Amino acid sequence: MKTENRCSVRVYSSRRFDFRGRPCSKKATIQREGIWYCSIHDPITVEEKRRHRNEQWDKEYQEKLRIRKREQLEHAYCEGLTDEELIKGRAK
Ligand SMILES: [Zn+2]
Repeated sequence: MKTENRCSVRVYSSRRFDFRGRPCSKKATIQREGIWYCSIHDPITVEEKRRHRNEQWDKEYQEKLRIRKREQLEHAYCEGLTDEELIKGRAK
């Protein structure tokens, strides 16, 4: 009888003192360098997800940076003008 391979990754709960964790209970679907992994813990999948997440964070960071620079420019441009002057300038 063929023995079913189990995922070799240890998983940890969010409980505070869960230092030991427990083995992943999922059935292994892929073997990488002699070690079995389930579809969730496949190192290639994990790495792709990590990269994608980092790209998303980087995009969000760049957008925040762009907005901050824009605000600084606007602030510098409007410095010394009264509200009325700003409104008049916009109406041109
Ligand atoms: Zn797993």
